[in-house]
Amino acid sequence: MDTEVTMEKIVSLCKRRGFIFPGSELYGGIAGMWDYGPLGVDLKNNIRDLWWRTFVHERDDIYGLDSAILMRKNVWEASGHVGGFVDPIVEDMVTKKRYRADSLLEDNGVENADGMSADEMTECIKKKEIKSPEGNPLSDVRTFNLMFKTNVGATGGEDSVSYLRPETAQGIFVNYKNIIDVFYPSIPFGVAQIGKAFRNEISPRDFIFRLREMEQMEIEYFIKEREWEESFEYWRKEVMGFYEKVGIPAHLIYEHEIPKEGRAHYSKRTIDFEFKYPFGQKELSGLAYRTDYDLRKHQEHSGVSMEYTDKNTRDKFIPHVIEPSFGMERLVLAILTSAYREDEMDGEIRSYLALDTKISPVRVAVFPLLKNKPELVKKAGNVFSVLKKEVGRVRFDAHGNIGKRYRRQDEIGTPHCVTVDFDTLEDDTVTVRERDSGEQQRVSLNELPSLLVK
Ligand code: ATP
Repeated sequence: MDTEVTMEKIVSLCKRRGFIFPGSELYGGIAGMWDYGPLGVDLKNNIRDLWWRTFVHERDDIYGLDSAILMRKNVWEASGHVGGFVDPIVEDMVTKKRYRADSLLEDNGVENADGMSADEMTECIKKKEIKSPEGNPLSDVRTFNLMFKTNVGATGGEDSVSYLRPETAQGIFVNYKNIIDVFYPSIPFGVAQIGKAFRNEISPRDFIFRLREMEQMEIEYFIKEREWEESFEYWRKEVMGFYEKVGIPAHLIYEHEIPKEGRAHYSKRTIDFEFKYPFGQKELSGLAYRTDYDLRKHQEHSGVSMEYTDKNTRDKFIPHVIEPSFGMERLVLAILTSAYREDEMDGEIRSYLALDTKISPVRVAVFPLLKNKPELVKKAGNVFSVLKKEVGRVRFDAHGNIGKRYRRQDEIGTPHCVTVDFDTLEDDTVTVRERDSGEQQRVSLNELPSLLVK
């Protein structure tokens, strides 16, 4: 059956089954913020663990880090974010609503608007007589800094100003020296960090795609300048490898080479990995060659040398950087979109999530066939206890008829369900049902944990 995956279906499933809720819903919601419910947290934790295992624990050249969200404002001055982390903004002269000017131009058929200056955009709006979505005249385009400003401490004043970090990368650059001084890594080496980042996006939208509070998973991989092309190609494959590992097939990811005008101020080459979301093909993650821009800037602003000394040649140089940068929420949305399926089973339409067993919130569900038969409930309880220890991520469900219980687990992507029935009491075998095919097989309880782990 051909499934049309719409945002309505994904958003409704996320809410209905407890993956994702609107932020501050009780008070009418807050744009760009979403809360993760019990299943969403587990999905996210499983993705995070897999990422960390893949890029930190299974390698010997990448170090982990968890730096503070708030840093001295000098960090953001040095990195160029105070001056340059801006989006072009335009205002509807009647409603006073604000829009991102480049998006508005592109919606009106102007190509490569993100490479234009604010003045060029203003000019273009006038020449093409572009109006707001409500049909009203628009203001001139100006720039808007996306960083959330705050004050640290009670004194206030300019000195206390700080920003919620708009990327996790800078925490890595300001700790680069600590890592080389403590660990003496051989180059190339990397530092990885997972954590919250904040951007005061002009128009957050598309569910968890464009947020104001998000989570990033970033690696800064330090290399010798002459190795940048080779390293870039290497990371291109590693990124694709991770997408396959997490269950997104390679043919659903599109690589988009970003032209010079569209690249961030620090980048000499960028590839966006795009995914076909229900609202269009959009950036899922990025891979950038940040050159030595950041370390050089921090050296200039802090006065501390960022040079690395080659262990063999004793050459001193500032390393260059390749940065694979993943956004957790865009990944969650891509995973949900690519896993969403509908088919017909037992004469009914069912929807299910074909999640990879490594990341599904629940690995296996255990049911007693009937909830009012104490001997079945007790036996199923024993099976649940064993699987909890030996397999993990187990759910127990005794509510409703067995078909309904299967559907509930299908919808949240549980790969296997185990049913304890009257035969189990006689011969210690259970029915194991596989999610995608609905096929059932009889398995002995002795073999069950190892079969599931496999
Ligand atoms: P966009 O062009 O869509 O604004 P970007 O190119 O500014 O994104 P980067 O600065 O490269 O994004 O950030 C790295 C990753 O962080 C992105 O690939 C994306 O996965 C994620 N990300 C960035 N901004 C947001 C956001 N507002 N909401 C959710 N995820 C985001």
